[in-house]
Amino acid sequence: MEAVIGLEVHIQLSTKTKAFCSCKTTYGNEENTQTCPVCLGMPGALPVLNKEVVDFAIKLGLATNSKIAEKSIFSRKNYFYPDLTKGYQISQYDKPILENGKLEIETENGLKSIGITRIHIEEDTGKSNHSENFVNSTGLDFNRCGTALLEIVSEPEIKTSKEASAYLAKLRQLVRYLEICDGNLEEGSMRCDANISVRETGSKKFGTRVEVKNMNSYKNVEKAIDYEIARQIKVLENGGKIIQMTALWNADKNQTIPMRTKEDSQDYRYFPEPDLVPLLIDENWIDEIRKTLPELPKTRKERFTRELCLSDYEANVLTSAKELADYFEKTLEISKDPKLTANFVSGEVLRLLKETKSELSELKITPEKLGKILTLLQTNKLNLQNAKKIFDEIAQNGSEPEKIMREKGLEQSLDTNELETWVSEVLAENPNEALRFKSGETKLQAFFMGKIMQKSRGKANAQLVTKVLLEKLK
Ligand SMILES: [Zn+2]
Repeated sequence: MEAVIGLEVHIQLSTKTKAFCSCKTTYGNEENTQTCPVCLGMPGALPVLNKEVVDFAIKLGLATNSKIAEKSIFSRKNYFYPDLTKGYQISQYDKPILENGKLEIETENGLKSIGITRIHIEEDTGKSNHSENFVNSTGLDFNRCGTALLEIVSEPEIKTSKEASAYLAKLRQLVRYLEICDGNLEEGSMRCDANISVRETGSKKFGTRVEVKNMNSYKNVEKAIDYEIARQIKVLENGGKIIQMTALWNADKNQTIPMRTKEDSQDYRYFPEPDLVPLLIDENWIDEIRKTLPELPKTRKERFTRELCLSDYEANVLTSAKELADYFEKTLEISKDPKLTANFVSGEVLRLLKETKSELSELKITPEKLGKILTLLQTNKLNLQNAKKIFDEIAQNGSEPEKIMREKGLEQSLDTNELETWVSEVLAENPNEALRFKSGETKLQAFFMGKIMQKSRGKANAQLVTKVLLEKLK
């Protein structure tokens, strides 16, 4: 048996105002402080489309090679829900803004292109609150109601849970590069539903699908898909039938819970939204947006390997997020050494972010400061050990690399007289080891290097020390 998976991803657009009114979209503000008659669905209030929503959709269209419709239509999707007071959601149905795109993902067997059937604009609902503050009642917050979403529907070309999470990660990377969505799965600004079915391997006919909702992390997406595939195969192998339904993923119980059975688009009685004119997009508009596109992850990665001679792995890590790639390139402007800078950014900087759980923009170690440290390292004023020491110091207290270097006396010594003294002293203090070395125990070199570095308080240049040491031990 094989699985057939299609993903429907909703991304919340980070436009300043909502899709059809001028209410703000700030996350986490006091309940019901960002509402107006339009997004509350008051009778007679008329929606007006926010141009920024279309700009953002065009950006994603260009980045996914989608066909951008000259004319698309808004439709009403009718359903009753307490946090959608109008009784319908403004969406797009048979004439969406974008169609026939694609997204390339990395799999164990190399690159794979996943088709994107369509991307359409729609509005978000409010939020129901079932917390203990509301006994025998439900709290309703309409701050989110009317916020712009893009729904991205993939072709059923995903075969495994790993491919599904790779697709999600690629999409998240892309929308963050485009700065149209913050990609936060936990806060719900990116939400994923999966349509899952199974069939005999190689068969062309689709099995009955189950839609799984409520997976708010990559881990849950993988777990839910694996669970549902295994469940369906078991049902079929036992001679049973799959019932078409919508199910919720329950992360505590690690299983899918049936929510409602059989639901088709005709249940929603879609019809064209009479309050909005058709959306017309001409070539000029598209060209304007094309000019604002940043260098996309794939192109940037290729440039890093081609022009900066970084490995595939290094380029992948550094371009994983736009801010990281920007940080790397700003540092590189000062340090001028791609390999060294790549090592420090993918090593020390990422370690620091992880340890302090902070964002790049919050770091005290700015690209300018890191660039200066790396320059000191390249010009032999610092050795690697002390460069890392200064890096850690700045990460905690700010300050300037050269200042710390001078204050702490960390400047590397290239003075041969000074080096000779340190080496001679260490040899005199350890006569037995010196004898053993001379009689062939050459692995003691590390022991001497350690002692000499300690004596120099890390200031000695390791290459010069090695030279002087070996000379004296002849
Ligand atoms: Zn409003």
